[in-house]
Amino acid sequence: MNHHLRPLFFVLLLITLPLIGCGTASTNLITGETVRGAYTWQEEVQIGTEADQQIIAQYGLYDNAGLAAYVERLGQEVLQTSAYTDPTTPAEIRNTPFYFRVLDSDVVNAFALPGGYTYITRGLLAHLENEAQLAVVLGHEIGHVLGRHSSQRALKAQQGQLGLIGAAVLGGVVGGGGVAEGILNYGGTGVQLLFLANGRDAERESDRAGVAYAEFAGYDGAEAASFFRSLGRLSAQAGGSLPSFLSTHPDPGEREQTIPQLAAQYDTGTRVNSAEYLQQIDGIVLGTNPRQGFTENSVFYHPDLRFEFDVPNGWQVANGAAAVQIGEPNGQAIIQFTFAQESSAQAAGRAFAGQEGLQVSDQGGTRINGNTAYTVSGTANTQQGELALLATFVEYDGEVFQFLGYTGASSFSTYRDEFQSTAGSFTRLTDSDKLNRQPVRLDVVQANRTASFQSFLSGRPMPYGMDANGLAIMNEVQLNEQIPSGTALKLPQN
Ligand SMILES: [Zn+2]
Repeated sequence: MNHHLRPLFFVLLLITLPLIGCGTASTNLITGETVRGAYTWQEEVQIGTEADQQIIAQYGLYDNAGLAAYVERLGQEVLQTSAYTDPTTPAEIRNTPFYFRVLDSDVVNAFALPGGYTYITRGLLAHLENEAQLAVVLGHEIGHVLGRHSSQRALKAQQGQLGLIGAAVLGGVVGGGGVAEGILNYGGTGVQLLFLANGRDAERESDRAGVAYAEFAGYDGAEAASFFRSLGRLSAQAGGSLPSFLSTHPDPGEREQTIPQLAAQYDTGTRVNSAEYLQQIDGIVLGTNPRQGFTENSVFYHPDLRFEFDVPNGWQVANGAAAVQIGEPNGQAIIQFTFAQESSAQAAGRAFAGQEGLQVSDQGGTRINGNTAYTVSGTANTQQGELALLATFVEYDGEVFQFLGYTGASSFSTYRDEFQSTAGSFTRLTDSDKLNRQPVRLDVVQANRTASFQSFLSGRPMPYGMDANGLAIMNEVQLNEQIPSGTALKLPQN
């Protein structure tokens, strides 16, 4: 059984990073400069290999073998034109396999882990128009790996003694940093270093690398400019709460200028391959997949797991593969919903209450809509101050689910009712309309007339979590833009 929601604390806490000393000298393979990073290449490979399993557990791989093979093939092609194959590159790096994975997330994102692991979401793939753009994005992520960027970042973070854990807990988690940052929990050590934002210099370096590698592979790197313009519109729409690919990258306006300039420097590539690309993404899921949970009128429904619960009015829901995060709009309180690992609510509650550093004020058994449950309340000290929390464990259909509401200690009385009523509303989903929801898929069509982009949307369903403007951005056009007859469009499938 492959549920979308997976145990979270579990996977995140397993990683062990090598201890960081004063840093190790290595060569940045993009610039050729000697840089200090926290890890040797072998350590980077070890970190990447461990974290890769967690990324897969957390997001899930997108279930489409043809598309996965296509992205892998193109990634390998771009890799072959990069510094990876340069004879001066150390053999240990040239002999390390690189991986290009497609993640099942509608968040528009791509990122890399140390040691040769790169990821692109189906959400980002839907926003690309051609193979040349994809080549630049994959080249960019290869650049992060070969530039040893996360190793340098980890060293800086470690030396700076950043209060990462506390910041992740108290900072507005939902919508703050995308799924990867959103799921960081107290108790985790190390892995969050991997998700710190790259610096702008690292991003510019990777942009250069991405365009150069794509050009060397025969693609027109200048094509990426219009994708980066789209990213800019996405970030404006998101109101500043961006997934990491957007937030950490250079200003989209800057990129729109620099990408064509960079491409002109090489100007070896002419391939765009729009039709080939669109054929590959035809039929992929658009927006969120309601099978994996969706929110409607302040109720969260999970058709595959057959439950529902209320969401406090106005709170934001981020439904990740491993957890549902429900955030107070100003980031003052969070409710996190996950699987618990134990086989009963009581065992899960007692294990939770027994955690080091937690001062339990109250715990005991209860029932929630006929299901056996257990609650624990208490406080915990973090680097950002004292947190107060209410954890509720519910047995349901052979699983144990966990609601964890937490906030600053002084705000607990303000949010306790929300924590209680959310967990207390957990119940069986019986509404067949909700149970039968299916995802909306991408349909590649040729415009049969010259008309505004918006007019092509009429009569088509709206993907979950998207709107008309989002679909225009996805097509790299304006909503009212006149689309010439015969243009290929990416529309929601009827
Ligand atoms: Zn980047």
